Amino acid sequence: MKFINLTNIFQWRDMNEIIFRLQDFGLISKDHQLKCPIESCDGFLKLFKDKSTIDGFRWNCSGTIRQQKKKSIKCTKRLIYQMF
Ligand SMILES: [Zn+2]
Repeated sequence: MKFINLTNIFQWRDMNEIIFRLQDFGLISKDHQLKCPIESCDGFLKLFKDKSTIDGFRWNCSGTIRQQKKKSIKCTKRLIYQMF
């Protein structure tokens, strides 16, 4: 694991920047790296800001769910982002 100076993290004022730094450090997944948990969905998750969640972020999927003998539908999976 890469060394991270925690005081640097807490000097970053913007939560947004912290998240993207953590992505840079490889501590959390980058956008489009996490597969959607829905098995029939081909999508990958992307991190979005969401003030209604505790950490202020959530994962959204915008993939397509293939259904047997039915029309494919757009995935609307939302996952609450938890940092720790
Ligand atoms: Zn999905």
